[in-house]
Amino acid sequence: MSAQKSVQIVRRGVSEMPKPLEQLSEEEIIKKKCISRVMTHTLSYLTSELVKHGFEWLLPVIFSKSTDPLWPDPGASVEKRVEVEIYGETVRTTLSMIVHKVVACSLAYPKLFTLSPNIRIERKERAHTGIHAYEFTQLDFEVRDATSKQIRTLVEKLLYGLIKNLKRNLKDELTFLGRYENLNVPSKPFKVYDRTDLEHKYGKKWETRVVLEAKEPLWIINIPREFYDFEDFDSGKWDNYDLILPKYGEVLSGSRREWNYRKIVKKMDRDGVNKENFKALLTLAKKGRIKPSAGAGIGIERLVSWITGVKHIGETQPFPKIPGKVYEL
Ligand code: AMP
Ligand code: MG
Repeated sequence: MSAQKSVQIVRRGVSEMPKPLEQLSEEEIIKKKCISRVMTHTLSYLTSELVKHGFEWLLPVIFSKSTDPLWPDPGASVEKRVEVEIYGETVRTTLSMIVHKVVACSLAYPKLFTLSPNIRIERKERAHTGIHAYEFTQLDFEVRDATSKQIRTLVEKLLYGLIKNLKRNLKDELTFLGRYENLNVPSKPFKVYDRTDLEHKYGKKWETRVVLEAKEPLWIINIPREFYDFEDFDSGKWDNYDLILPKYGEVLSGSRREWNYRKIVKKMDRDGVNKENFKALLTLAKKGRIKPSAGAGIGIERLVSWITGVKHIGETQPFPKIPGKVYEL
């Protein structure tokens, strides 16, 4: 693992794969229903809290010319990027809505969120991490003029409230899943660790150590990755963050964003990102129309996997999308 890698792959060796819905026994369907009750409450709680906080709820996009380059995030490992031709134009399926979010937040919706289907054809081996699906949903949000600290504080409040709410309202389901007793309402504020300090302390395997030793959700900051995360060229520090859940791993990535045209171009050139695929963003940035913002994306199935304690993320999906396994539904 590279020292720069975000904390994604800690669990290996999940051997039993979730079955398609139509092959589940009656008993297995009872478990599936408990998980979906947790999913329903989680979505309902998070979206209603964001709406209460003044966020606009935007519907997602599936096909665009421009999507997340997912590069250079060494944690990402898509084996194929889905591109199709429609109306004589090449479009890509959404890898994440980061570009749309930054544009929408700058031009029209200062506080926005979306529940965005992401299609990432992860390498087959990732079936066994238990935390990768090839289709999943991000609760992606962005706030104009926000600082990283403000976004982290909002996420802490949401997670704290969510766990409290679930323990109050879904005691039976969490008990059935064996999670009621050991799912603790996290203490705020969450601890923050700089990636460079963790590298010094734990060496190359810092990710695994941190995830296994964590007793509470925690933040890791300053992770080198894609052009859109803010980087201070003088200090070399990145103003970004990952949220790590104990014994699970990364559930959220976010940052303050780059908005300065020259910096964005410099980073795209440095990283070998094709500027042709980001014409709208670059044109707006050149005109000074991209505004400073910060935000994050939460992997909903990962969050619910952690809450429910399932071995494989596919168990949280009604129709599992497991890397390397293509079911009919
Ligand atoms: P990223 O921008 O790559 O950090 O993705 C944002 C969030 O989406 C991550 O923090 C995860 O919670 C989730 N995520 C990323 N890749 C996958 C995947 N293959 N399957 C399920 N969730 C994922
Ligand atoms: Mg990430």
